[in-house]
Amino acid sequence: MDLGIAGKKAIVCASSKGLGRGCAEALAAAGVDLVMCARGAQALAEAADAIREAYGVHVTTVACDITTESGQSEVLAAGKGADILVTNAGGPPPGKWSDWDREDFIKALDANMLTPIALMKGCLPGMIDKGWGRVVNITSQSVKAPIPVLGLSNAARTGLTGYVAGTARQVAEYGVNINNMLPGIHATNRAEALDGGVAKAQNITLEEARKRREATIPARRYGTPEEFGAMCAYLCSQHAGFIVAQNILLDGGATNATI
Ligand code: NAP
Repeated sequence: MDLGIAGKKAIVCASSKGLGRGCAEALAAAGVDLVMCARGAQALAEAADAIREAYGVHVTTVACDITTESGQSEVLAAGKGADILVTNAGGPPPGKWSDWDREDFIKALDANMLTPIALMKGCLPGMIDKGWGRVVNITSQSVKAPIPVLGLSNAARTGLTGYVAGTARQVAEYGVNINNMLPGIHATNRAEALDGGVAKAQNITLEEARKRREATIPARRYGTPEEFGAMCAYLCSQHAGFIVAQNILLDGGATNATI
């Protein structure tokens, strides 16, 4: 399918690896020029080179922490005039409800709520002026069904979801669509770290922890960054102009709900 977005410019945050990388690859495959960021400069440069080579698109890299004001300014400057914004950052650490104090919440809110909001505020005016734009926020399955050990994520991402629900409906008339993608478990470093925590706590191997988690998913496997990226590219495409303020779950059926 021709997504109709070749030649457009996208900011894809936290994209040297994992789900962000999957989104960057799929957009590049559709002919979109990219601004990519991550903290680790080397992995970022390698990812950018691989994407330039594979798809022939223009890729700018910004090695920064996207949860800082300076990182956000640098990325917004490099992505000036962006038609597409994909927000993403690392997820907060797991724990128990009684573990977290104010500072932990502030960190999680900064990373997973206030950072995407700042980036949207930076990009939306330009998109509105052009009469076209797409924003995809990578959030989590935890927005639909809380994951007890990820209380910081449950809280911060739900806040972002509320902001998007109101904002998306204010910008849709200008051809600007904001939606969220809610990953269930996907085979990335993050999943490996979470499984590592389970393995340690239950004194089992990493493979066993993964096997047990896979058994809880109707699809009986983890998702891949490639299939996640394909949905992102579709939401950023010309065909998705009537999809507004949606929360798209990609979880292999793990969330047991009718709607
Ligand atoms: P990942 O495999 O750990 O990849 C994270 C990517 O983001 C890397 O490129 C990393 O590069 C970059 N990054 C992390 N923190 C950053 C920061 N502060 N500033 C800039 N770049 C940053 O993680 P993932 O699995 O793709 O997860 C992406 C998001 O989806 C996370 O918020 C995660 O919590 C959420 N999520 C993931 C799953 C899953 O199963 N994978 C499920 C639900 C939700 P550097 O480390 O070099 O910065």
